Amino acid sequence: MDLAKMTALGLQGQSISREDALAVLRSNDDELMPLVAAASRVRRRFFGNRVKLNYLVNLKSGLCPEDCTYCSQRLGSSADVLKYSWASPDEIGRAVEAGLAGGAKRVCLVASGHGPSERDVNRVNGIVEGIKSAHPGTEICVCLGFVDDDKAQSLHDHGADAYNHNLNTAESHYGEVCTTHTYEQRRATLDALKAAGLSPCSGIITGMGETDEELVDVVFALREAGVRSVPVNFLLPFDGTPLAGHDELTPQRCLRVLAMVRLVHPDAEVRAGAGREEHLRTQQSLALQMVNSIFLGDYLTSEGQSGAADLQLIADCGLVVEGSEGDAPREPATSVPIRRRGVGTDVLANA
Ligand code: SF4
Repeated sequence: MDLAKMTALGLQGQSISREDALAVLRSNDDELMPLVAAASRVRRRFFGNRVKLNYLVNLKSGLCPEDCTYCSQRLGSSADVLKYSWASPDEIGRAVEAGLAGGAKRVCLVASGHGPSERDVNRVNGIVEGIKSAHPGTEICVCLGFVDDDKAQSLHDHGADAYNHNLNTAESHYGEVCTTHTYEQRRATLDALKAAGLSPCSGIITGMGETDEELVDVVFALREAGVRSVPVNFLLPFDGTPLAGHDELTPQRCLRVLAMVRLVHPDAEVRAGAGREEHLRTQQSLALQMVNSIFLGDYLTSEGQSGAADLQLIADCGLVVEGSEGDAPREPATSVPIRRRGVGTDVLANA
């Protein structure tokens, strides 16, 4: 593993090769700290000491007709998660305020389901306009499932900045994790987002039985798709889903995955997503040296660590919250989920 060569490429914004990406995933423990240091240099080249905070607002939960095996909201799931159709404007407003008070720069508006109807798009457009009007500097990312060109354009025209639609896993592995839609459908949605001018946010879930080659495939596919934000989720194998009990991740493996993603996407926002706390555990501080973005507080249907703990972690790493002008991070607000989340599951892999 030639870390000097990989670092030099990264500092120029260029990806390492597929062979080197595989070598990163297969590196041994003696090489782990030098690997983290290399990925950290690249991270600092493009993002300095800043960490972007993202805050999830769950507009609609559960009741999905799709069968993604990793998801607590899937068809037939018996996972103990809340199910509701569209939160009220007051609930949404309170959640947004809590996230922004905690230092979030981006608000992620998420709804379960295959994709939005035109009425749903109009509803979300109104929510986006309301947030933009009250908080003009806030970035808004929406995650509503499959959208066509017209729906993507409408969301963009009403103020949405970005759209999350994860590829999740390699094309060759996709049939193992979902039968109700295809990888190609997800890939086509990314094209619609880009055509509409929405910044494409798309990432992965690792720990679902994929091979190293498949993991490298999907990370390179994201690069080829031109995504600017890459959430890296670590499988939360909750009861009531087909992947319940599936446990293949270690903190060291998670660090290698993050290093590989950073070295393939040197200048993209790389985010440690759901499962960060459970799988990285005491190694979260090393992960923050490679990623430049995290979710603040809770996830869609699972609880993260508190917003206060996230801010302490950032400060302990010698990093600063993006938008805080290098000042001490703001006082954390108490995390305010729209409704109390159960011991649920989803890994922000919403379509
Ligand atoms: S990931 Fe999205 S599409 Fe798949 S089951 Fe969950 S909510 Fe539905």
